[in-house]
Amino acid sequence: MAMQTLTTLITGLAGLALASLATTASAQEEDDPMEPRWSFAIHGGAGTLTRSDMTPEQDAAFRAALQEALDAGSEILGNGGTAMDAVTAAIVIMEDNPRFNAGKGAVFTWEGTNELDAAVMDGRTRAAGAVTGVKTVKNPILLALEVMKDGRHVFLSGAGAEEFAGEHGLELVDPSYFATEWRRMSLERMKVEKISALDVDIKFGTVGAVALDLEGNVAAGTSTGGMTGKRWGRIGDAPIIGAGTYADNRDCAVSATGDGEYFIRAGVARSICLGLRFAWESTRKASGEPLSADEVQAVADAVMADVEVLGGTGGVIVVSPFGPAVFSFNTEGMYRGRATSEGTNEVAIYDDEK
Ligand code: ASP
Repeated sequence: MAMQTLTTLITGLAGLALASLATTASAQEEDDPMEPRWSFAIHGGAGTLTRSDMTPEQDAAFRAALQEALDAGSEILGNGGTAMDAVTAAIVIMEDNPRFNAGKGAVFTWEGTNELDAAVMDGRTRAAGAVTGVKTVKNPILLALEVMKDGRHVFLSGAGAEEFAGEHGLELVDPSYFATEWRRMSLERMKVEKISALDVDIKFGTVGAVALDLEGNVAAGTSTGGMTGKRWGRIGDAPIIGAGTYADNRDCAVSATGDGEYFIRAGVARSICLGLRFAWESTRKASGEPLSADEVQAVADAVMADVEVLGGTGGVIVVSPFGPAVFSFNTEGMYRGRATSEGTNEVAIYDDEK
């Protein structure tokens, strides 16, 4: 049954990719495909992000925060650093910025605590590390990285993850470090108005990054506080390998943001990678030509359409060895940025921006 579903999805994705073969060749395809190149993308969450909801000051502050993270990763990649170093450097910056729902500024659980999830994956080896329910580790993405490097386990939770953090010298903080007044007010509003997390978290603030380095390796990372009012040890998609985070050198690196429950059920990140592989193998492998940006976009859009069928909203960032990073989201906006060795360097918020 599961295999049948997968086959149906992959067939659909290949169809979409084939349908877009007729599109104009992108500038990428005209470049020398042998030239080593890097590519980098970040997100700071998707959601109801319209110009009328933001003051010019808020708009500028978010763009500056995104630019700082984008530049940190780009500099590493431009200097020949690894995809994983670029991903974690950018995410640490966003975890430390209280505007995002990761690290400092994370949303509150129903009980009024901040519990953090994070994951990384290295596309070269498909090594991965993930943590959930962490309350005292300043930068959960660095803990996920440490879990990956340690290699004995992939996914650690709660007290055990914190014990591991202590043993591995991660920076620990008092749980109050993560709390911000506006996130506490969101929890109060949720309780008083009896509204759902979806109504209160109209802007998902999860952060993520994906990178392709000059060696041709890809990596992905995602970090989040989850969703306001989460209970009973709820875990979202961000730390689940294959749902919110995935990287495989053969295909791509993906980081997601949105209603985690739906992203888990759709297996979003891994589905995008498999869809790209199938699209490439069935259309281009023989000629050795890379997929175009439009084709990569079609595969990501098809998986996001599947999330929407289930009722989920959110977005993904995708970097593949085939070309520039793509974004796909079914919300009014997504905090995002991308940069390449060819000179692309842009941050954006609203869906009408390129
Ligand atoms: N995807 C996250 C979760 O479900 C939430 C977010 O993107 O902000 O935990």
